[in-house]
Amino acid sequence: MAPPVLVWLRRDLRLDDSHAIAEALVTGGELALLYVLDPAMKARGVGHAQLGFIVEGLEDLHGRLAERGGGLIVRRGDTVAHLVEVARELGVERVCANRDEEPAAAAMEAAAEEALRGIGVELVVVDDEVNVPHELVATKEGKPCRTYSAYARSVRRVLAELPAPPVEHDLAGRLLAVPAPEIPSAETLVGRPVRHRADVTGGETHALARLRAWRDDGYLARYADDRDLVAEPDATSRLSAYLRQGMLSPRRALQVADRSGAPKWASELLWRDWFKYVLHHHPDLDRHCVDARFDGIVWTGSDEHFEAWTRGETGYGMVDAAMRQLAETGNIANRARMVAASFLVKDLHVDWRRGEQWFRRHLADGDLASNAGSWQWVSGTGLDAAPYFRIFNPDLQERKFDPTGAYVQRWAPDSPGLLRIVDHGVERDVTLAAYKAVAAELQDPSA
Ligand SMILES: Cc1cc2nc3c(=O)[nH]c(=O)nc-3n(C[C@H](O)[C@H](O)[C@H](O)COP(=O)(O)OP(=O)(O)OC[C@H]3O[C@@H](n4cnc5c(N)ncnc54)[C@H](O)[C@@H]3O)c2cc1C
Repeated sequence: MAPPVLVWLRRDLRLDDSHAIAEALVTGGELALLYVLDPAMKARGVGHAQLGFIVEGLEDLHGRLAERGGGLIVRRGDTVAHLVEVARELGVERVCANRDEEPAAAAMEAAAEEALRGIGVELVVVDDEVNVPHELVATKEGKPCRTYSAYARSVRRVLAELPAPPVEHDLAGRLLAVPAPEIPSAETLVGRPVRHRADVTGGETHALARLRAWRDDGYLARYADDRDLVAEPDATSRLSAYLRQGMLSPRRALQVADRSGAPKWASELLWRDWFKYVLHHHPDLDRHCVDARFDGIVWTGSDEHFEAWTRGETGYGMVDAAMRQLAETGNIANRARMVAASFLVKDLHVDWRRGEQWFRRHLADGDLASNAGSWQWVSGTGLDAAPYFRIFNPDLQERKFDPTGAYVQRWAPDSPGLLRIVDHGVERDVTLAAYKAVAAELQDPSA
């Protein structure tokens, strides 16, 4: 009988369509699945909403494993130390994991590989996080894609030749029985009451149920028309936190989009993959502008304005509603994210990096690649399709995407009565001048 094999779970908390599980099954041994709640997660921007979601996901995953004769091993503390300890305890020769390209995760992976090698255990890492591995995506000329549209075209070309459908694993008789884990509550982990609550419940069971219901109840069919209506919670799938923690496979989601004839939703799913591709090519995506010229901008926004923005007290209804919804639920719809982010950068002149950090810490789906990529997109600092001179007018956005006023009424009813902290018309011109100056200065070195 082959020795057992350990699956090291990170942002892949599911049993459906996981390349690490597929890799482990090939060995013929029984599978044990380990997740380590590591305090280092906090330094990586994992906030309360995300942590609560993860804890729910672990409970769900243990339940799903127990139904199939296995169980989840959960440890708390240093990931590498626990990996080594569990590998030793179980007598495994191989640990399988899905790749996590965030720089801190990649560094941990390297440390884990070395430590496991030290005890004679091999770490096998496979690509799983996107529909098409980054190495296979390129322009027709074989160069890295520089725009989303080139990326999406290339992904579709690859998928036409090398389809990557999701796989249902047969785990019957293949799971190592383990005692029920002690999964600490998010409150215990944080050391105080957790205020943030995501507006969805964590776990693969809930992810698959949400995917089915959202499709079957007709919302997916209306997505292309309704997706920007910020007051309608089902106008979008609300699957992002599941995708972030790998409670839902990206291939499973894309399959549903394609089979349902929903190209708009499919293209949004590929935006997620695109930002992972951008991170792959720009590992400092959350620290430097993709177009380095814009690192020269001097951000003049004040702490006071930043704080008013975080509290949702700017006097601009849609911005305030978004920021208060974020604080209460850990989620905001894409349109409201764009408006709130644009306001911080283009109206309050605060460095996009401060907003990026705030969002990542408070969003249940907070994700380095999608968040930093989106902040740079909104800021016009180098990602395609969003030149710096495209500036959202928060009042026009509100009229268009919250036409009945229900969104502002729900989240920030007092906002219209607040004194506006800045005048959009004035600040828009200030921003245009600042961006233009930097762009021109760098075009002309003698300036
Ligand atoms: C400033 C800003 C910050 C953002 N931060 C994050 C973040 O931290 N994590 C995150 O997952 N998304 C982020 N997004 C992208 C997008 O807002 C969310 O993915 C989307 O709102 C999630 O809601 P949904 O699941 O209902 O999406 P749907 O509209 O149903 O789309 C389905 C899935 O496609 C992906 N997706 C959709 N739109 C985008 C997009 N524009 N960029 C990348 N992926 C997309 C998501 O995985 C989403 O779950 C951010 C956008 C902005 C403007």
